[in-house]
Amino acid sequence: MPRPQFSFEFYPPKTPEGAVSLENVQQQLAEVNPEFFSVTFGAGGSTRDKTFETVIKIQSHGISAAPHLSCVASTKENVRSILNNYRENSISKIVALRGDLPSGTLSAGEFRYANELVEFIRTETGDYFDIHVAAYPEVHPQAVNGTEDFKNFKRKVDAGANSAITQYFYNAEAYFQFVEQCQKSGISIPIVAGIMPITQYSQLFRFSEMCGADIPRWLRKRLESFGDNREEIKEFGLEVVSRLCQQLLDGGAPSLHFYTMNQAAPTLAILKNLNLS
Ligand code: FAD
Repeated sequence: MPRPQFSFEFYPPKTPEGAVSLENVQQQLAEVNPEFFSVTFGAGGSTRDKTFETVIKIQSHGISAAPHLSCVASTKENVRSILNNYRENSISKIVALRGDLPSGTLSAGEFRYANELVEFIRTETGDYFDIHVAAYPEVHPQAVNGTEDFKNFKRKVDAGANSAITQYFYNAEAYFQFVEQCQKSGISIPIVAGIMPITQYSQLFRFSEMCGADIPRWLRKRLESFGDNREEIKEFGLEVVSRLCQQLLDGGAPSLHFYTMNQAAPTLAILKNLNLS
């Protein structure tokens, strides 16, 4: 059986110290031969230059880099110039997103949804980019309902996405159901499972509420019971997420995409448990 693929996601560093630390983290994660590193794009383009600098640095170390690009509050001219910049620097993977309007922003810009961005990228650049889009096995929080959300996901695939990366989840069945729904709808692009290692609780809880990721009751209750004991949370989180990854790979997930939060140790510990490091 071929070795499963991985990719690792980072956010652009905010300080010079953060940049040094990220280089170190990336060096450690590069050892397991990931398919690519991806770098997030702040709401409304707030990290536009930092995302660019970070992917250029990654690519200069010989690792394939995929910048995220969100289109909300953006103009076509703006997106065109970002795409041209990436092409000029031989960046050929991109994670195409709508993003969320930063609070206080009134105008949604020239794109309303991610399918319009995918369409624009294809019209402007043909087949140059390998386009990844977001998928929501537990349904996007703003979706009218699950059926509409899935139809909207399909629009992105029909517009030319090559692969999808899911929002993180702790319920493997949600992923398998989503993949089955794709198969029934004739969607054959890889559905990469997004994995969020568990290293703390309160921040994970807040973030999951916002992005619509469900923390099942049993998991929430166990994590709550550890209080501020970070070591216990990490140990238990490692066990839970390693088992989830194993279940996903055994069930046919083609690849795992780790939301690293710019840390190497939690992801490496999971890969070690899976005998994949
Ligand atoms: P869309 O696919 O456009 O969907 C957004 C909502 O609109 C959904 O409810 C959908 O059902 C609905 N919808 C979609 N198309 C239509 C249509 N044509 N008509 C009517 N309704 C429609 N955010 C960032 O700011 N920066 C990042 O770097 C970033 N990286 C991410 C990476 C991954 C792998 C994931 C899963 C998410 C990421 N996000 C990021 C978060 C993402 O931007 C938010 O979840 C955002 O709310 C939706 O983006 P989308 O591309 O999924 O939007």
